[in-house]
Amino acid sequence: MSKTIVIIGAGFAGTMSALSAAKLRAECGSDDEIDILLVAPEPVLSIRPRLYEADPLQMSAPLKALFDVTNVRFVSGFVRRIDTKRSTITVDLPSGEQDTLLYDRLVLAAGSRVVSPPISGLDEHAFSVDQRDEADELWQHVHSLADRPRSAERDTVVVAGGGFTGIETAAEMPARLRSVLGEKADIRVIIVERASDIGPDLGPGPRPVIEEALRSLGIELILGRSIVSVDAGGVTLDDGARIASSTVVWTGGLRASPLTEQIDAPRDALGRLVVDADLRVPGHPAIFATGDAACAMTDGLGHQTLMCCQHAMPLGRFSGHNAAADLLHRPALPYSQERYVTCLDLGPWGAVFCEGWDRKVTLSGSAAKPVKQQINSTFIYPPKADRETALAAGRPGITADV
Ligand SMILES: Cc1cc2nc3c(=O)[nH]c(=O)nc-3n(C[C@H](O)[C@H](O)[C@H](O)COP(=O)(O)OP(=O)(O)OC[C@H]3O[C@@H](n4cnc5c(N)ncnc54)[C@H](O)[C@@H]3O)c2cc1C
Repeated sequence: MSKTIVIIGAGFAGTMSALSAAKLRAECGSDDEIDILLVAPEPVLSIRPRLYEADPLQMSAPLKALFDVTNVRFVSGFVRRIDTKRSTITVDLPSGEQDTLLYDRLVLAAGSRVVSPPISGLDEHAFSVDQRDEADELWQHVHSLADRPRSAERDTVVVAGGGFTGIETAAEMPARLRSVLGEKADIRVIIVERASDIGPDLGPGPRPVIEEALRSLGIELILGRSIVSVDAGGVTLDDGARIASSTVVWTGGLRASPLTEQIDAPRDALGRLVVDADLRVPGHPAIFATGDAACAMTDGLGHQTLMCCQHAMPLGRFSGHNAAADLLHRPALPYSQERYVTCLDLGPWGAVFCEGWDRKVTLSGSAAKPVKQQINSTFIYPPKADRETALAAGRPGITADV
């Protein structure tokens, strides 16, 4: 009887898991023995790293043809429940009905989401660039500002959070606002960051470059301050200061999918399941976690994976391979990924490209911009939907040559 690998999620990790499992299955001539089933709301890869750019609804890539040529069965639905005792998942189907699916191996690749802390008015009034529909709502709103009379509120954007996403979002904003409001508008873009430094998680390496870029784009920084409330007219900070703004973008805290909580195993502070070298969840031999839903060691030096495509795609390849290897009685491949780079878009100023975990800047400004453009337009997209190319893209250990 055939066995089933169920993959939850069609993001960077889930897609690569499906391709790598299909690749090993094909190499073993076992297409009839293993069913690979991927469950997600739609067969589309949402290009989340580009959602701070213009036209966010376009930031997606179709996956159905890719799944068809690799014989991966796509099930449209949203997983509500994982029952680890019965080895089943419960799926809400688009019809409104629920279905229960059995798995022999489960790969949890349900990703992450930005979470809103309990700040008064945040859910009602702040925008986000985390998901395509949310980012589109922001850009529709920015375009609608042109219909409003000139005011400080209209012309000011507050970006809450000065981490990776906050910096990229803010750097795009001045040019976007000018294109909507005209060159003469008195625009202000302000980043509010509660840490005392911009890009607190990026460390000191790229900071001088980031500060120079933001200065040259006219972006203001308010550091060491938190937003305590948001309303339709602006934000209030913890020192009582008020910033008038009808556009507040929340970019703080990512958290792993709540499905991770349904598996009784250790999780890190981001809600990610802490996995072993094979990306298996300890205590659950049939379950692998991957991408933003997993916390794995990247090397023997103590570096953990980050919530980024650079880790999600290779993690996906190893998790899919290892789930299939288990069923095909092949050896598992331990995940490792020693090289680490950081590339941050800095809007019209350019970009910054760093190498290593201490983020030593090797390219900046206009010299780094083509690298960022290549990452965003090529490296993070799925392969062509022909069988040979698609299966080759699933090989564990391959990385884009950045
Ligand atoms: C604005 C922004 C900028 C970013 N910039 C960068 C960058 O420059 N570089 C970088 O490397 N990374 C960047 N990232 C992070 C990167 O996008 C994530 O690390 C990556 O998307 C993680 O891939 P994933 O496959 O684990 O999860 P996701 O891409 O989040 O995919 C999760 C999948 O699971 C599905 N899913 C979720 N819940 C369920 C459920 N219950 N049932 C069924 N399916 C479900 C989703 O629909 C989706 O298909 C950025 C993220 C954002 C939001």
